[in-house]
Amino acid sequence: MALSQDLTETIERRNTSDQNESGNSLIGLMRKELRQALIEIGIPEKQSRMRSSQIWHWLYVRGVSDFSAMKNISKDLRKILAEHFSIARPDIVEEQISDDGTRKWLLRFASRGAGKPVEIETVYIPEEGRGTLCISSQVGCTLNCSFCHTGTQKLVRNLSAEEILLQLLVARDRLGDFPHIDTPQGAIVPGTGRKVSNIVMMGMGEPLYNFESVKTALLIASDPEGLSLSKRRITLSTSGVVPNIKRAGEEIGVMLAISLHAVSDRLRDELVPINKKYPLAELIDACRNYPNVSNAKRITFEYVMLKGVNDSLEDARDLVKLLKGIHAKINLIPFNPWPGSQYQCSDWEQIEKFADFINQCGYASPIRKPRGQDISAACGQLKSESERLQIRQRLALEAMISGHGEN
Ligand code: SAH
Ligand code: SF4
Repeated sequence: MALSQDLTETIERRNTSDQNESGNSLIGLMRKELRQALIEIGIPEKQSRMRSSQIWHWLYVRGVSDFSAMKNISKDLRKILAEHFSIARPDIVEEQISDDGTRKWLLRFASRGAGKPVEIETVYIPEEGRGTLCISSQVGCTLNCSFCHTGTQKLVRNLSAEEILLQLLVARDRLGDFPHIDTPQGAIVPGTGRKVSNIVMMGMGEPLYNFESVKTALLIASDPEGLSLSKRRITLSTSGVVPNIKRAGEEIGVMLAISLHAVSDRLRDELVPINKKYPLAELIDACRNYPNVSNAKRITFEYVMLKGVNDSLEDARDLVKLLKGIHAKINLIPFNPWPGSQYQCSDWEQIEKFADFINQCGYASPIRKPRGQDISAACGQLKSESERLQIRQRLALEAMISGHGEN
């Protein structure tokens, strides 16, 4: 297909200007952007709608990662697509499978512009009747919550919409969760029996500090003609970036989880320091105004159980008071320790007492079962391996130095 000079220039401009964002990948483009990208490489406008629908189907229903598999597209066009675009997966640096079936992948994404390649973790948690994928939104986190391992890794960068979606695509590849490539074209997305039935933005990073990419990725993940995850099965967890909670409700429309963890500003300032910027009253107000909350679509409040810090029955009483009138579910998370953490997990008996109290006040209060602990895949334990290695090396060095001191 010959391209006019104008078109060639447009493509070059597009490729250069987008290079730092998403390279030339088609993954992570909204439908109309995908169509536009096709027009820019010379696909006639009249054809572009049909072509973008076909490609969308191959990418998100069939999960192909090579243009050559797109059988209803001519060989010549597939060749042109492959010359201009990529739909490749990232490198899987490591795949770990826990005794309880939890899986963790360490993925490496190529460098963007002058930056280095980055590594992030994604976790899959199989449960009776469903499978949840825990997705990262950033490499590291800027927010330094005092009980969270990710918070000790300084932010390296935001992930792009492509990189957020690739976590879902890689997980489905590895779990055999895409329809077999040879099933007839037109195969529809199964409503049940999927390995990844739910996704939670609860991996590394604060999703509401990477709003645009998270929004694009989640809108693509919930597109009914593609990955088609119901928005009721997608949960976005935030430490409380109040202005973007409103936007998330209006522009993304997924389920909301709030990392609450404390019921007084004094303690929350210490545990979740973003509270100093957006204190409890503003946070709770944003929750009260979150659209479409009902008894069937409740807000989840996450509450990490820290021994002697936030786990008394007075705390439980104040928690119930604070959430009065909100359709809420309170998820109690036993604290997951990590090397160097300064807290201990509450005693099991105390967690149960706390849960019973809340429950008697009318709130569902499930205690989150720690999963994948043997592979450090539990909440708040994620941190990229390269960082951990550096820490291990540092600790080894420190041990050597202090060893010398003693001798
Ligand atoms: N940044 C977002 C989402 C990622 S953290 C947020 O903070 O909501 C996902 C959940 O794990 C949050 O509720 C977080 O507070 C919790 N968490 C972090 N570290 C933890 C730890 N060590 N033990 C238990 N839960 C932890
Ligand atoms: Fe960041 Fe969430 Fe960890 Fe806080 S709990 S440091 S917001 S990832």
